[in-house]
Amino acid sequence: MSPSRPRIVAGNWKMHGSRALLRALVPAVQQGLPAAGRCQVVFCPPAVYLGELAGLLQHPRCAVGGQDVSAHVSGAYTGELAAAMLLESGCRYAIVGHSERRRYHGESSELVAAKATAALSAGLLPIICIGETLADRESGRTWAVLSAQLTAVAELLQQPRASEIVLAYEPVWAIGTGRTATPEQAQDVHAQVRNWLQEQASAIGKPMLAGQLPILYGGSVKADNAAALMAQPDVDGALVGGASLQADEFIAICRSAD
Ligand code: PEP
Repeated sequence: MSPSRPRIVAGNWKMHGSRALLRALVPAVQQGLPAAGRCQVVFCPPAVYLGELAGLLQHPRCAVGGQDVSAHVSGAYTGELAAAMLLESGCRYAIVGHSERRRYHGESSELVAAKATAALSAGLLPIICIGETLADRESGRTWAVLSAQLTAVAELLQQPRASEIVLAYEPVWAIGTGRTATPEQAQDVHAQVRNWLQEQASAIGKPMLAGQLPILYGGSVKADNAAALMAQPDVDGALVGGASLQADEFIAICRSAD
């Protein structure tokens, strides 16, 4: 991790948990986190709990995030949540482009870019997920897939609030499988993403941007592998699924990022 970039650990609950878990886990995590530390901790529970979560937050380093956001500002889009609504519910972040959204809801990289734009324009920090499947990796197409996903969001770098973009590299083969990328595999991809950012940012006259944007790693991050992953120079935090549902595990991961 670079000393100058923000560090973030975000817990994506997906469609897990309950109100009882929220009321037990959030205070426990806040109690276990030292007041001073480098990383921001983000809870992303199912949307129906966002308002209550915001009321439970007391720790200066904790924040609320949505698991998804609509690309539209408002309108007849049943079941969707506008960025302004997430903000009103206390959110500071919104995950976009999670591989489960891409896979089960057919979200294209262009739609992901539109969602990220909507989030950024409304004042949220988008956590933009990219990742390759096992078949992509085994056929040597990792960078081809990732760069296509990134190309779709490249225009976002021109936005006035571009320095608030967060990227998350989540190899699909590592999500929920217990099979984590090795620290070297993660660093290898993060460095390629950083180089890509460097090229894009320089081309639009914002060369500083490439060094400012945090790149999180996600995919079976646990208490026992977090420190090694976060010791990599271009890994600036973690997007955590399963382990974010257990207070002790999640606290240990956050402490590794501090
Ligand atoms: C995720 O859903 O973003 C994720 C990384 O899940 P897990 O940590 O369970 O692999």
